[in-house]
Amino acid sequence: MSIKGYQTKLAEAQGKLSRKKKGSNRYKKAKRQLAKLHRKIANQRRDFHHKVARKLVNRYGVIVHEDLNINGLSRSPLAKGVLDAGWAQFLQILAYKAAEAGRRVIKVDPKYTSQDCPVCGYREKRPLWVREFTCPSCGTLLHRDVAAAVNILARARTEPAGIGALT
Ligand SMILES: [Zn+2]
Repeated sequence: MSIKGYQTKLAEAQGKLSRKKKGSNRYKKAKRQLAKLHRKIANQRRDFHHKVARKLVNRYGVIVHEDLNINGLSRSPLAKGVLDAGWAQFLQILAYKAAEAGRRVIKVDPKYTSQDCPVCGYREKRPLWVREFTCPSCGTLLHRDVAAAVNILARARTEPAGIGALT
């Protein structure tokens, strides 16, 4: 089932539970069904993480990502807990698979990676909804995530714990 399908199912199951009388057998049953659905969703998410990690590890010798522990991942407080939990799980799976395959995973400080121009270094804070990166200093135009990715990779090359081994 698709993520969207699960979301609909989840909403239905939650609605069903809310209509049952607390403590009744039907309530307990609805609660079990809801818990089962949550487990299914968690499993599906884990499978997805494994798949993506496998793909990355097969394809790249070195994988660089922002360090989760430095200032948290989310650049907005939006759904922070859930997002970070999912991301942390993914990074764990990635690290494990990479180690198994002899690949290198490098974490870098996420500070300013989405603010700095990857071409000229001009720093500007942008609200999260701005998906395009335009540099007022040198005119570079990139997708926000691409600009951040270039910065993250560049950081991996320069940080002491980084990349001597990238070359
Ligand atoms: Zn620039």
